[in-house]
Amino acid sequence: MQKTLAIIKPDGVARGLIGEVIKRIEESGLEISAMKMISMTKVQAQGFYAVHRDKPFFDSLTDFMSSGPAVVMVLKGENAIGKWREMMGATNYKEAADGTIRCDFATDIEKNVVHGSDAPETAAFEIGYFFNAFEQVA
Ligand code: UDP
Ligand code: MG
Repeated sequence: MQKTLAIIKPDGVARGLIGEVIKRIEESGLEISAMKMISMTKVQAQGFYAVHRDKPFFDSLTDFMSSGPAVVMVLKGENAIGKWREMMGATNYKEAADGTIRCDFATDIEKNVVHGSDAPETAAFEIGYFFNAFEQVA
């Protein structure tokens, strides 16, 4: 069993895609072990994406991530990290496989609807960034 952090980013929430994304998660067999709606500050977004602090897109990305409400979730299941990344599709929606969330809904390389952790170490950091143990059902 593995856990990953998933986010429905501010563009996904603003466009009414919460239900669509959660439907896909439920159909996938991944379990939702924690979920809440948050509104990140710029500083919280900078901390979350600290790994990208030297990238040219960092300032715009953290503006976007703090631009409105987002839904953060912990997903649990076998190969949860890889499975959720496969469901999301490639970072650049133009390269995302058919049927993935980003292929179906992203409008921009930045505004790509969803986030997912990319490795066990980043998943542990990202889950701990938003949830304590009492906020996860399993
Ligand atoms: N991003 C961007 N421009 C880029 C690459 C990434 O705006 O050239 C944004 C995009 O929202 C992406 C996030 O930065 O989801 C984090 O980038 P990463 O490479 O970690 O992609 P992800 O893990 O989200 O697929
Ligand atoms: Mg990433």
